[in-house]
Amino acid sequence: MTRLNENYLKLPGSYLFSEIAKRVAAFKEAHPGEQVISLGIGDVSRPLVPAVVAALHQASDEMGVAETFRGYGPEQGYLFLREAILKHDYLAWGINLSADEIFVSDGAKSDVANFQELFAQSSCVALQDPVYPVYLDTNVMAGRTGEFANGRFGGIIYLPCTEENGFIPQLPRERADVVYLCSPNNPTGAAMTRAELKKWVDWAAANGSIILYDSAYEAFITGADVPHSIYEIPGADKVAVEFRSFSKTAGFTGMRCAYTVVPKALCVYDELGAKHSLNALWLRRQTTKFNGVPYVIQRAAEAVFSPQGQAQIREVISGYQQNARVILGALREAGLTAFGGVNAPYIWLKTPKGLDSWAFFTTLLSKARVVGTPGVGFGACGEGYFRLTAFNTPQLTQEAAQRIAGLKF
Ligand code: PLP
Repeated sequence: MTRLNENYLKLPGSYLFSEIAKRVAAFKEAHPGEQVISLGIGDVSRPLVPAVVAALHQASDEMGVAETFRGYGPEQGYLFLREAILKHDYLAWGINLSADEIFVSDGAKSDVANFQELFAQSSCVALQDPVYPVYLDTNVMAGRTGEFANGRFGGIIYLPCTEENGFIPQLPRERADVVYLCSPNNPTGAAMTRAELKKWVDWAAANGSIILYDSAYEAFITGADVPHSIYEIPGADKVAVEFRSFSKTAGFTGMRCAYTVVPKALCVYDELGAKHSLNALWLRRQTTKFNGVPYVIQRAAEAVFSPQGQAQIREVISGYQQNARVILGALREAGLTAFGGVNAPYIWLKTPKGLDSWAFFTTLLSKARVVGTPGVGFGACGEGYFRLTAFNTPQLTQEAAQRIAGLKF
């Protein structure tokens, strides 16, 4: 008899987005001909920009010619892309890193999911509540938690992100080995200021902890006091890994390209107290379990950094930012309290009249035929909140906003 990894049995059965899809399908069946608009999606709606498409074509042509054909590439990513990332996203911001501290991957999701493998089974993990579920679920699968009860897993340090603290995680009283921070945040749309992030970097340095910093929505930052990289904070290279993605920045959700920065200054310790480089360990892990991102995709990602690519993606991102403003305006008109949407493509609204997240889901679907995501699906502290996203088209976002504005709570 083959035994399973019983940690998988600890995961709650119903997946949030399949439950939403089920309820939307039932509504559509009962209301044929009515147009339902989704402001629930975490996927982009605008196509790839022309500079990226041109690079894809050119790289595809190279793959059909013997002299320029490429087989397996370097597991860490081609140097042309790592150098473009380094120059544009770090050196230009006064951050000193080197190309061998950057690892190109097929998505921030895989990297934030896999990185925990490098830490001891006994490591104590802290994460935000509400949270992007991947951080939590992968630690459950790895056996770092107890059972699930009352919306929480035993053995995890939850960092409540509430209206009282502006949805910014506060330092825990207990020590944690690893802390996941996501800023700008999915789902709350909150972004940490330089001063707030500095507290975490100093805390990690004082406690010998490691921060896994997910910055997948960095391109949406508008505030001058919001750092674009954790390495803007002095000393962060000794305590933090940073994850970034081309998914929302450049419409690469279906292309799959992201990168992770693992500074060489970052160390972990064995049982005897001997020091080991996290960069060397991640390289070892990647060369064993990963065979790199396709050449054509990496050339397409490189094109994001060209002057044309930058101008074109900024225009697309501005469109999503405009959608966020439209949604925020409509929510206020409807008499609702909303957060986020300024440094992130996510709007986090407080459900009215004490409705729980799923009751508000039903209200919004039945009265406005608009779909969003119940906050409780991201954690216990998400109860009483609801997430809307700015990723739909301007036309459908406008239409949904008009319907919401007319509701009056
Ligand atoms: N991190 C956060 C916080 C996200 O919200 C998402 C996607 O929704 C990801 C990572 C995944 O990014 P990628 O498409 O690069 O895997």
